[in-house]
Amino acid sequence: MRLTYSQPMPVQTQLDPVRFAAAQRELFASQNVRVGAGRVVHAVAWTPWLEEHELPMPACHTGWAGHGLGGDVRPTRDPVTCRRCLTLRSGDRSSTSSPLTLW
Ligand SMILES: [Zn+2]
Repeated sequence: MRLTYSQPMPVQTQLDPVRFAAAQRELFASQNVRVGAGRVVHAVAWTPWLEEHELPMPACHTGWAGHGLGGDVRPTRDPVTCRRCLTLRSGDRSSTSSPLTLW
């Protein structure tokens, strides 16, 4: 079997996780999030990433895989339109005094 590449393989540039996480934190602070080219606006949640760092993600986890490293999540000031995120958000308010039931 012979492997040939007609195009150069994509090369990941070096990523400084500390700077990347800090930049994401600043970029998504007080923002909502769109996934890819989608029009739906999601609430932002933060997911653990590499040691003590966190990265933004849609609160509902819908339509998203990865950690935004490929620019698959974009900040927006538009209001949340995702029904699941809105439900989660309203659930957060009502559950502040009682623990969440996970299953
Ligand atoms: Zn959502």
